[in-house]
Formats: sequence, C-alpha cells, structure tokens
Amino acid sequence: MSTSIENPPAAPSDFIRDIVTGDLQAGRHTSIHTRFPPEPNGYLHIGHAKSICLNFGIAREFGGVCNLRMDDTNPTKEDVEYVDSILADVNWLIAGWADHCVGMKPKGAAPEAIGGDGGTDFYRAPMPPACAGAVEPFYASDYFDQLCEYAVRLIRRGKAYVCDMSPEETDEYRRRGKAGPFRDRGIEENLDLFARMKNGEFPDGARTLRAKIDVEAPNVWLRDPLLYRIRHTEHHQTGAKWCIYPMYDFAHCLSDYIEGITHSICTLEFEVHRPLYDWILQALDLPRPLPHQFEFARLNLTYTVMSKRKLMQLVNENLVSGWDDPRMPTISGIRRRGVTAAALRDFAYHIGITKYDGLTDVAVLEHAIRNDLNRRALRRLAVLHPVKVVLTNLPEDHFEELDAVNNPEDPQAGMRKLPFTRELFIETDDFMETPPPKFFRLRPGGEVRLKYAYIIKCEEVVKDESGRIVELRCSVDPDSKSGGSTAGRKVKGTVHWVSARHAVDAEVRLYDRLFTVPEPDADGEFKKHLNPSSLAVVTAKCEPSMAKADPELRYQFERLAYFAVDKESLPGKLVLNRTITLKDPWTKEAKKG
Ligand code: ATP
Ligand code: MG
Repeated sequence: MSTSIENPPAAPSDFIRDIVTGDLQAGRHTSIHTRFPPEPNGYLHIGHAKSICLNFGIAREFGGVCNLRMDDTNPTKEDVEYVDSILADVNWLIAGWADHCVGMKPKGAAPEAIGGDGGTDFYRAPMPPACAGAVEPFYASDYFDQLCEYAVRLIRRGKAYVCDMSPEETDEYRRRGKAGPFRDRGIEENLDLFARMKNGEFPDGARTLRAKIDVEAPNVWLRDPLLYRIRHTEHHQTGAKWCIYPMYDFAHCLSDYIEGITHSICTLEFEVHRPLYDWILQALDLPRPLPHQFEFARLNLTYTVMSKRKLMQLVNENLVSGWDDPRMPTISGIRRRGVTAAALRDFAYHIGITKYDGLTDVAVLEHAIRNDLNRRALRRLAVLHPVKVVLTNLPEDHFEELDAVNNPEDPQAGMRKLPFTRELFIETDDFMETPPPKFFRLRPGGEVRLKYAYIIKCEEVVKDESGRIVELRCSVDPDSKSGGSTAGRKVKGTVHWVSARHAVDAEVRLYDRLFTVPEPDADGEFKKHLNPSSLAVVTAKCEPSMAKADPELRYQFERLAYFAVDKESLPGKLVLNRTITLKDPWTKEAKKG
C-alpha cells in the first residue's frame, strides 16, 4: 500500500486499532468507549493532539464514544484557566470530524447500583450514547465520593492501610523494598484513621492510605503504592469539600471503570503502571467488563520541546508571549499562528502509532500545513519590505483595475480586481544593482513582469545621501498586459507589487522555528537553544482587499508565505501572523551544513 502525507490512508491502521477490531470480532465488547484524560495543569500541546486524534479517531472509526475527562486529582497544580483552554482546544480540533462521538454526561439519570460490601453501595453511572455537540468534560473530581467509598472497600478487604510514615521515609522504604511499621494495622483502626484523614484531623503529609500489595515486588509501582494523601487545599471543582485527594493511579483506573471505558489508551511511560491499574480493579472485585490499558509511543518532534513543565518555563520567564504565542507547540499557539484544525489532524491522525519511542521531523508537520493552506488560501499581493517604483511613462492620475485569480487550486474562489497606478511598491529584494548570474528579477536596464500586469524596465535608480535606494524609475510596456500585442514577450522574472496609493498597512509577524537545533533538550538546556530570530515584525504594504481580511480565512501572499489574521488585529489596524513560508528555508540550511 503506498500512502504518503499527500495521499493519506482514509483511516490509519496500527496495533491499537487491530486490538479494537479483534475485541469487537471476538465479542469482548459490543461498543467501543475511549477517553482523553488531560491533567488541567497546563495548556495542551501537539503531543496531546496525537492522543486526541487517536482516541476520538478510534471512536469515530468504530462507531464508538470518546470522553474528554479532566484528570483533576492534584489541585495544587491545577487551574480553571487550564480547564477552559483544554475544552476550547479539544472542541476546535475535533469540530466537524469527531464531534458526533463525544461522550456526554447523563442528565438526571439515576446511577446503577452495583452492590458493595459492609453496607457500602457502589455506583456506576450508566453512560449514554454519544451526543453531537460541543464537548462537555467529565471530571475525575466528580467521582471523589465514589473513589472514597472504593478506598473504604479496599480497607475492609484488608487490601489497604493507613501509613504514618513521612513522604521521605515512605520513598526510602519503597526503594529498599521494606515493609513499614504500620503495614499490619487492623481493619477497624484503618477505617477509623482514614475517616479522620478525610475529616481533616491531620496535617498535610502526616498520613497516607496505601495499597497492601507486595513491598518486595520487582515492579516498584506495586510496592504498596499511595492511594490517598492529605492536602488541605481547595479544588477548582470541589471547593473546600476535600482535604484528601486520590493519587493518579487510583483515580485513573476507577474513573475509566465508572465511565465504562473499554480501551484506556495512554503513552508508554504508563506501561509500568498497568499491573497496578489491573490490581486495583481486581482487588475491588468489580463486575465485569473491566477497562484495559494500552500504551503507545508519545509524539516527539524535532526543533520542539514537548512537556508542559518546560513550556510553562518559557511562559513564566517571558521567553514567549504566553501559552498561545504562535511559536509555541501548544494547540492554542498553533491555532493562533493560522494552522487549521484539518491540517493538525492530518498530521496527528496519520503519523502512525507505534510501541517504540521515536522522533518525528518537524518538516512532516510543516508539509501537512503547506499542503492544507495551498488548497484553501486566497492569493493576495503584499510587499513586506517595500521600495517605491515610479512608472514614468504613465500619467500622474493613471488608474486601471486588473483581474487576478483568487486561488488557482480552487476555481470556485473566483477573481478580484487589483488597482494599478503610476506609483507602486515592489519587494526590496526583487531589485539588485549588481546582481549575481541567474538573478532574474529587476536590475538597472533590465525588465521584469509585474504579476497580473505589465512588463516594466528599470531606467533609473534614485538614492538618498546615505546611498540607500529610495525609488526605482521605470518605464512600462503598455501593450504587454495579458491579451496585448507584446504580451508574449519573454521576460525571465515575475514579481509581485501593490499600488502605493491603495496599499493597506499591516503589522506582519514573521515567525520561525523557536529553537535552532533539532533536539533542543538533548543537553537539558533547552533555553540556550532558543532561536533569536524566531520573530521579526515588519509593516507590510498589502493590496486593498486585505482591509477586509477575515480571521476565518487563510491568505497566501504570492511568492512569500501563508498568513492569518491575529487575535490582536483591530479594525483599521491589521495584524497578520506568518503561518509558514512557501518553501522550507531550513532544508537549504541543512544542505549547506
Ligand atoms: P507532559 O508530559 O507534556 O507534561 P502529560 O503526559 O503530563 O504531558 P497529561 O495531561 O497527563 O499530560 O496527558 C493527557 C494524555 O495525553 C495522556 O493520556 C498522555 O498519555 C497523552 N500525551 C501526553 N503527551 C503526549 C505526547 N507527546 N504524545 C502523545 N500523547 C501524549
Ligand atoms: Mg501526566
């Protein structure tokens, strides 16, 4: 099968999809339920986009459901700002693609009693089918009551105990594979202490609830891991209700269970946690089916750092303008830069799912972005570094309108008019006084075609006292326009231009890669490898139609790059982001080196 980024398979195939197919065929599940479980302690990045596209993609392909679940068990690091941003990013990424597979919370449905022991009832919320519409998040914190009951159930079964060792001692004992002095506490004492932990009788760190598994297990995660810890901290969803919070491993598998997740898909670092995931579900003797965890390799990208902790440093140290700085690999940054959800999905959905860590070339992402923008972007003329051209053989008040194609890739996009006058701007780089061989643009005495317009000849170069070129005085061949008698005349170069009188100014932000080396964190000093030229700001002269630039549309400035309207743009003060150049300047760079 030959597929490429230009010709992606309709739906990817990989070992996880093979497992899902097998489970359906064998009747192990009749419907598929996945989830994407971010911790709201930072903004989502492009690695998360891979996971979103995998989890929602599987739901989409197999007629299943995918929940967005805030894995909010650590209130000290979390914030509603992150909850909101995650919601916005997921909605944006899956809109029109997988938003019909979104798991929605049951409204007013009575939970289904599933029995318990010692008078405790356990509930599993019946999950409704997917509902089309905006993603509504589930929260692990919605299950805090139920998780607490599960913890009590473990204690009753002699499978969990309250431990009074300090965090440091606990770590030390676990590392050495030693049982602590509180391991064999009686059930009643454990129940009493856990209730008092919950009631707020003890300070942070004084006690923990631990699973009683095997202190000597070769897998350290099974050495009586912590299930609950004391944190006298308010939670962004539950307020001051709780002063004990469940640990990730305890909350995660049970949240999956409560939501009826069939395939709990996560990245490889959780492989070593899987025995604990299974142990907890089995120790509670929960009615089947139980969820199962599968691991895949996380996305790593060249010229990028991909960890919320490191991205947060860039934000907090003002090395970027914020989480949505268009140079950031966050979903919000990528969106603000002008990349469409379709392009990001094309990339994230089709890069492949493997069991082995690898490094994806950022050029693959850039290629997907160019491919998408080439199809959709409206072509426009704009000059980023202008120099004035005066067409001396035209009258002062010359004005005509020329026809220009909006998008050669899309006939539906139609045509527009470009005003053409005696004074124009062209790109400074499109003129050279003493050019090298093969420079096919304008030179003294040389000719060039103006895109959609006439052939001009440079007759005179005007400079200021400092020797800087301020004006090119040119003559125009009036019959060289398309359809004219000399239109067929061969000139090697074509350059873009705008009418000086009609030009609209725009603040244009020219972004480049944020880092200068392929693996910025290889030496642990990623901040040393920031690209000092990752942002340059210029005032561009744009054709007049750009005055009405639409934030929903994408533009290609011919011969230059793709652009999108920035969120800071205002009526009368256009701000544009360069999403990506037309060609990859870094390939040339690499070849030189
Ligand atoms: P980071 O390591 O960047 O801080 P995280 O793993 O702590 O991220 P979570 O919010 O816990 O972030 O991740 C939510 C989900 O996204 C998890 O299932 C995780 O496995 C997945 N995920 C995180 N990073 C990547 C990545 N680079 N590639 C693919 N999936 C990822
Ligand atoms: Mg995590």
